[in-house]
Parts: sequence; C-alpha cells; structure tokens
Amino acid sequence: LQEVLIRAVELTSPRLDEKNMQFNVDIVRDVMVMGDFNRLIQVFTNLITNSITYSPEDTTITLRIKENNEYGIIEVEDQGMGIEKGEIPRIFERFYRVDKARSRNSGGTGLGLAIVKHLIEAHNGKITVESTVGVGTCMKVSIPLYK
Ligand code: ATP
Ligand code: MG
Repeated sequence: LQEVLIRAVELTSPRLDEKNMQFNVDIVRDVMVMGDFNRLIQVFTNLITNSITYSPEDTTITLRIKENNEYGIIEVEDQGMGIEKGEIPRIFERFYRVDKARSRNSGGTGLGLAIVKHLIEAHNGKITVESTVGVGTCMKVSIPLYK
C-alpha cells in the first residue's frame, strides 16, 4: 500500500501546495493487499483530492497505513469542513453533493465517491467515514490482505 500512497501523494501535491496544505504520513510498516495498483491509486487520489477541496488553507492531511487480521487499512484524515451525520450515507450516491450552492463553485460532478466505493467493493473491501462538522473527516479504507 505504501507505493500506492506515494503515487497518490505525487499526483495530488500540486493542488496541496496551492492551498498551502501539508501531508503528515504515518506508516509504521508497509502492508501488502490484493489489488489492482492503478485502481487503488485512483481511489486514494480521489479521497485526497476531496480532502484538499473541502479543507481550508494551511491545514494538514494525515495518511495512515495499518492492518488487522484480515485487512490492510488506509486512513485519509483532514481538518476540513466535515460532513453532517445525516449526509454521510448519501455522499456515495452518484451526483450527490452536500450543500449544492457552495459545492457548485468548487466545480465537481459528485461522481468521485461513487466511483471510489465501486472500486473498493470490486476489491472486496469497505470504506467507512467518521466526520465532525467544522473539525474534519476521516475516510477509512479496508482492503483484504495479500496472503
Ligand atoms: P467530483 O466528482 O469531482 O469528485 P465531488 O467532490 O463533489 O465531485 P464526491 O467526491 O463524490 O463528489 O463527494 C461528494 C460530496 O461529499 C462532496 O460534494 C462533498 O460535499 C462531500 N465530501 C466528500 N469528501 C469530503 C471531505 N473530505 N470533507 C467534507 N466533505 C466531503
Ligand atoms: Mg470528489
């Protein structure tokens, strides 16, 4: 997973720099999962791009790699605007965007997370969200370990 994150970091760092944001990378040891390298890069590029888009300037995005008995786990945690509890189940729907007026200015389509969820499920993985409005969001992705 480390190689995947490195690639996703490379692809997103120009936008990160524009907002004067930083990565904080927390990897104790690398974890091997069963997956398609390029598809997984797409997943984390999407999640990191969201964290950049929905965070104020001068904040930090923390990237963590962990594991349990079954899964390799990557967390993408930001210090952004957060998502209301009631909205969390809906953000994975196609074309769904929280706060239409504001998000129209940021120019997305609302497809990013629908694609992310589809790709993770194609890997027999899962994604969970923890978020507090005004504090930040943590996206936790679990992908079956390589054995
Ligand atoms: P795009 O298709 O360009 O990715 P998008 O970013 O609006 O457009 P999604 O990535 O699917 O679409 O995200 C859906 C909505 O979930 C976003 O419009 C935003 O309101 C909310 N969201 C996603 N990630 C975050 C985050 N890290 N912090 C706060 N809100 C988020
Ligand atoms: Mg997006």
